[in-house]
Amino acid sequence: MHGFWLCIFRFRGTAMPPDTIFYLGNDTIYTPVYVFYGQQKGPVMVLDGGIHGDEVAAQLACDSIVDNISVQKGTLYVIPRVNLPACHDTVRFLNKDLNRTFPGDTCWVDYEYTLSYLFMELIDSLKPDLVINLHEARSHTRTMTPKNKNDKAFGNTLIYVGDTKSNLLLDVQNEINRYYSNPEEQFMLHLFPFMAAGSLDNMYYRLNTKSYTVETWRGYDLPFRVCLQTTVALEFMRRLGIGFKMKE
Ligand SMILES: [Zn+2]
Repeated sequence: MHGFWLCIFRFRGTAMPPDTIFYLGNDTIYTPVYVFYGQQKGPVMVLDGGIHGDEVAAQLACDSIVDNISVQKGTLYVIPRVNLPACHDTVRFLNKDLNRTFPGDTCWVDYEYTLSYLFMELIDSLKPDLVINLHEARSHTRTMTPKNKNDKAFGNTLIYVGDTKSNLLLDVQNEINRYYSNPEEQFMLHLFPFMAAGSLDNMYYRLNTKSYTVETWRGYDLPFRVCLQTTVALEFMRRLGIGFKMKE
């Protein structure tokens, strides 16, 4: 299984420092952003976890990549814990679901509106070729009834919006489904209906930036969840054309 060696790296505790770290935020919000520059020019990708603070596998998968990757081509930005205080408290959000506050506004009292505004500003300034959000799903396709199967089952899915379905997305789906051949672990594509305050729609319609969400089921044990998330994230990088190695 392709994913397991990645887990072994994570739990060895090896470390490979990023090229630079900066912080997303203002006086009160300071989420670390780890940056890896390849010597060769190439595509730019943003990988994030922790839009929802209780989805821990997403955060640990980002940690695993930050700790072990070296990038030769392109640029990779990793934000393991977008909603940092929510991640620290292992809660979904502080005031409001971050994924329902886009494009954000600094006038709102609620913390998440400011955070999504700053996140949008960051993406606008970086102009990445791709933004991948790692999430964890409470529902699995096999737990749903036929009636709601199509719109409520998110584990395991790759979510897209509008007309952003692409060869890249299909290639990633095909490749990871070769790694995870158990039918219950297979990834399905899911077209999410338009959501004005969601991250994907705002990335795409306001910033013209393709963004996909990876959802894996929370029912698996944690190491396997981290493996799944890490494997999918690395496959997106590979297919996008980021040149990288994971530390051996
Ligand atoms: Zn989530």
